[in-house]
Amino acid sequence: RRKHKVTVVGSGNWGTTVAKLVAENTKEHSDIFEEDVQMWVYEENVTIPSDSPHHAAVGDKPQKLTEVINTYHENVKYLPKIPLPSNVVANPSLVDAVKDSSILIFNLPHEFIGNVCKQIKGQILPYARGVSCIKGVTVTEDKVELICEYISESLGIYCGALSGANIANEIANELWCETTIAYNTPPCDRQGENGSNGTNGEHRDARGQISKTELTPLPQEYHPLDHAELRKLFDRPYFTVSMVSDVVGVSLAGALKNIVALACGFIEGHGWNMTAKTAVMRRGMLETIQFCQEFFPETIQEMTFFESAGWSDMIVSCTSARNWRYSKMAVERGVSLYEVERTELNGQKLQGISTTKEVMSFLKARGVQDKYPLFKAVEGIVDGTFEVKDIPVLFRQ
Ligand code: NAD
Ligand code: 13P
Repeated sequence: RRKHKVTVVGSGNWGTTVAKLVAENTKEHSDIFEEDVQMWVYEENVTIPSDSPHHAAVGDKPQKLTEVINTYHENVKYLPKIPLPSNVVANPSLVDAVKDSSILIFNLPHEFIGNVCKQIKGQILPYARGVSCIKGVTVTEDKVELICEYISESLGIYCGALSGANIANEIANELWCETTIAYNTPPCDRQGENGSNGTNGEHRDARGQISKTELTPLPQEYHPLDHAELRKLFDRPYFTVSMVSDVVGVSLAGALKNIVALACGFIEGHGWNMTAKTAVMRRGMLETIQFCQEFFPETIQEMTFFESAGWSDMIVSCTSARNWRYSKMAVERGVSLYEVERTELNGQKLQGISTTKEVMSFLKARGVQDKYPLFKAVEGIVDGTFEVKDIPVLFRQ
């Protein structure tokens, strides 16, 4: 059987963590996967921090991040102090990194996915399959799309979604957590007893509709790619994977909780505590479910909100993730969220800012923004037109 070659597209805090755990698994399941995992790195020059054991070798001279990763097996900028398996291969060339890979794991801030897809369109295996770990949405004119839908449509491949209550640094330190993967194996990839199932590339998209894109079936010479194999690729003793079919619920819960996490940071920065935050989380979850039901009614399953991608992610994001932490800091310091992102995050991104903007522009284009008072208030606070102290008013409407 032919083995799957795996590429992680992205190498930030979460991208590097996922590359680490996937590379541990490709080594363990080298009958199914090629051991080396390509990791595309958006190349930049970095200075190795003075407290790093690698600093002595090069001093303060700027180094290429890919060379640092491949030499010292550490992403000193986005995941410092975490040893990476030597089979994570950093590659500054996007096209070269995805070449010949049958599994593409997309893991970068959502605002960069459009440019990435443009560059790799036509450069990937036609039967490649994707898993998006990205939390966000894309909005074009008045259409809102899941990131995995966008990837599927622009590259002509099937793409599922991974999302959960996952703080990258904790998982990189192998502290246990759960995650949710939504993946509906396309019928043409299901192998029959004699190796062929006789179906063409017709399949249903995330909304349950027959997709406009006809898929190229995964050739029979490959190991099959179904829930069991995806579990082997992602599940670790410290990372428990739950496989589901609701791609919409998993993707939107992961994207919209970032808006709620900003609200919780604002609340705490203002001086309120857990009781106020749980009120905001409850309201945020209601608006999330309402959004899913209003715009993606065909396939949404309410039980998804009880998966790691649902309530667990809402809770962890509103109590210990970056969107919460830095929105709290912005209110405490009396500066804008943009300013905090620029000065404090060392290149990392707050996905909540752009997601709020995108979701609100979509809601406004449809004239339904008043049905989402919390999302609307978060946009107002980010823009300086709404005050945190007025959040309780939303709960009286
Ligand atoms: P990050 O915020 O740590 O890093 C930013 C990344 O963007 C860096 O790799 C940087 O090189 C890259 N970048 C900068 N400019 C770019 C450009 N023009 N084109 C392409 N890439 C560019 O990233 P992350 O934490 O790995 O986030 C990736 C996704 O994972 C996000 O959607 C995030 O919501 C999600 N996520 C993050 C965590 C976490 O704990 N960090 C957990 C779960 C999900
Ligand atoms: P942040 O991007 O806010 O750190 O969120 C990480 C996350 O998605 C936790 O599940």
